[in-house]
Amino acid sequence: MSVLPFDQRDGFIWMDGALVPWQDAKLHVLSHGLHYASCCFEGERAYGGVIFKSREHSERFRNSANLLDFEIPYSVEEIGAAKALVVAKNGFDNCYVRPVAWRGSEMMAVAAQHATIHVAIACWDWPSMFDVETKMKGIKVDIAEYRRPDPLTAPCHSKAAGLYMICTISKHRAERRGYADALMLDWQGRVAECTGANILFTKDGAIHTPIADCFLNGITRQTVIGLARARGIEVIERRIMPEELASFEECFICGTGAEVTPVSEIGPYNFAPGAISRVLIEEYAKATQPQKAAA
Ligand code: PMP
Repeated sequence: MSVLPFDQRDGFIWMDGALVPWQDAKLHVLSHGLHYASCCFEGERAYGGVIFKSREHSERFRNSANLLDFEIPYSVEEIGAAKALVVAKNGFDNCYVRPVAWRGSEMMAVAAQHATIHVAIACWDWPSMFDVETKMKGIKVDIAEYRRPDPLTAPCHSKAAGLYMICTISKHRAERRGYADALMLDWQGRVAECTGANILFTKDGAIHTPIADCFLNGITRQTVIGLARARGIEVIERRIMPEELASFEECFICGTGAEVTPVSEIGPYNFAPGAISRVLIEEYAKATQPQKAAA
């Protein structure tokens, strides 16, 4: 793999209130965020130079930090302006946008009440998969060993760096076994989500999806549910046990990165990407176009 490492690229990163040259956006190795996972982030996409649902992402960013017991020292409006500036300054039309916030170096123990909160925003090229026919082949998904934690054991609605530890382990295991991603069950053994995307199924023309009560209620998930309902497709949010997977027809995952991506297999269960996946791929692509989204 000859992908240029992320710390060796050129461009600008917004850091603690100002744009800095990309390779100067550094932090010290003794940072609380690194050692104790007091860190949260966002994942967004710009389409045609406009970040899709930027305000919702900024709000979630601030809320993620609050759930980790710290306050991002910028308002939703300031974060929105900084994100737009980063996209414009780096000259991207279509890109991925990554805000991140972390506790700094003033205190290096479990308690870090007085550590400074740092914020950075970067963006990079991450093309959408435009070819619908390739998408419609579907991806193969493993079943992870780790489960989404009980809400009493982790701040599950925060997009917290620490919550991705089990996602990375699960995704690595899936990739080693020839899968593109892994389905995680929750602490009660119910179907939850994939390592970086939510999951939906279809049966008899309706969409069935797990209740987002112990994992991220993705902004894409909420968008897709709205798009489906607007087209008269019934969406049922309920508890789904893994044994039920055999009874579903289509399956797709959705998230900022994945957008809407059909699934052909989850472990021993097979799905046939079909009409509902296709229509939602198309509707989501339309919704993310800036002119139409603003109309
Ligand atoms: N779950 C997890 C674990 C994720 O990382 C993501 C991507 N942020 C999602 C769900 C989907 O969230 P969104 O649609 O807001 O990108």
